[in-house]
Amino acid sequence: MTDLLIRGRVLTFVKEPEGIDDTGAYRYYEDGAVLVTNGKIAGVGSYSDVVKQAGSGIRIADHRPNLVLPGLIDTHLHFPQTQAIASYGAQLLEWLNTYIFVEEQKFKEPQHAAFIAGRFMDELLSNGTTTAVAYCSVHPESVDAFFTAAEERNMLMIGGKVMMDRNAPEGLRDTPGKGYDETKRLIGKWHGRGRAHYAISPRFAITSTPEQMEMSRALVDEHPDCYVQTHLSENKEEVAFATSLYPEAKDYTDIYARYGLLGRKTLLGHCIYMRDREISVLAETGAVGVFCPTSNLFLGSGLFDRDRFDRLGARHAVATDVGAGTSFSMLETMDEAYKVLHLQGQRLSPLRSFYMLTLGNARALDLEHRIGSLHAGADADIVILDSHAKPAMELRMRVASSLAEELFVLQTMGDDRCVAEVYVAGRPMKRGKRADEMTPAARTAEPA
Ligand SMILES: [Zn+2]
Repeated sequence: MTDLLIRGRVLTFVKEPEGIDDTGAYRYYEDGAVLVTNGKIAGVGSYSDVVKQAGSGIRIADHRPNLVLPGLIDTHLHFPQTQAIASYGAQLLEWLNTYIFVEEQKFKEPQHAAFIAGRFMDELLSNGTTTAVAYCSVHPESVDAFFTAAEERNMLMIGGKVMMDRNAPEGLRDTPGKGYDETKRLIGKWHGRGRAHYAISPRFAITSTPEQMEMSRALVDEHPDCYVQTHLSENKEEVAFATSLYPEAKDYTDIYARYGLLGRKTLLGHCIYMRDREISVLAETGAVGVFCPTSNLFLGSGLFDRDRFDRLGARHAVATDVGAGTSFSMLETMDEAYKVLHLQGQRLSPLRSFYMLTLGNARALDLEHRIGSLHAGADADIVILDSHAKPAMELRMRVASSLAEELFVLQTMGDDRCVAEVYVAGRPMKRGKRADEMTPAARTAEPA
């Protein structure tokens, strides 16, 4: 029998919160439950209602008093950089050349790629992230390792081989033809297999010649159901270099626009040094700007201007950008997002943070029917969050008086220790790997 009833304080968003107390933006069941059947959600609501729906003999995973949310989503990171986090001292272009382009050469080796891919997936799960959009290295072996590790865990993952044919060491360069052929073969092999989605991935304008950009356009035209991921306007030196390589383009955004790479399935990492014109082009095309706060601070890149994206009507998402990002935790990412926005006089309410981590990022991927919210028919990717996981949090929570306050404690003080469990298509993948049956957490007092 594959049915499971997950009991706890169930929280799921139905729309983007408009203020700190927009209770219409979410559904919350203090004693709630999610019914899982064959990896899908079959029912969500109060425990008393859902347990009736489940019928007798149902297995119950009792997570009270923890929160039950949709699995978290990370929309931009680099799996070959898992071991290159915390590389000291340099800004973007120097950091790439000094550390990253050395590290990524190791992924030609299938055994190394497989080892890191497994650890990468487990690290995501340990942090409550059930779906991520990742760059692999230039080597097809790294893509095979990535999707194999995801498939072993039944995770909905999006990824692709980076294409780069200049301004990188020889061991990391393909050619326009080779990049096209390898990408084409990998799409055929992986896209749509199980829960895998492919992302066509020209790394950025600096490392692709116009000929490779032309080949990227062909791939996008031939595979409109694949995602596209690249980087845009992360660092001033990078913007100057990129635009110097494409003098005919109006600006950095126009480089990608000229090659037909902007659309609803396009994810553009960073988008910091953008003119209004450029953000308006994203709004027109539906392309998504991806805010990577820990990375932007770590590399000294700059501050993402969310309010300008909102004002100009452009879509945006949030991500770790590991390994320039300093943590796999989406909670820690939102802690830094809050500060980055604060520095610009912008507010990030805890409700909006948790919306972004779940339904907001799912909408940015046009996958909200499957992930990012708890509703009948969705995939049963679920995270259990413990807002008392650290002594300092437990102490802080004694004086918390609302759900929003609890969420703010989680995002400000939380990390992987707050992820009590994570379910992928209904299967426990963190502590519960050992058993599906959970015992009630030993707590002396429920959160106020
Ligand atoms: Zn990146």
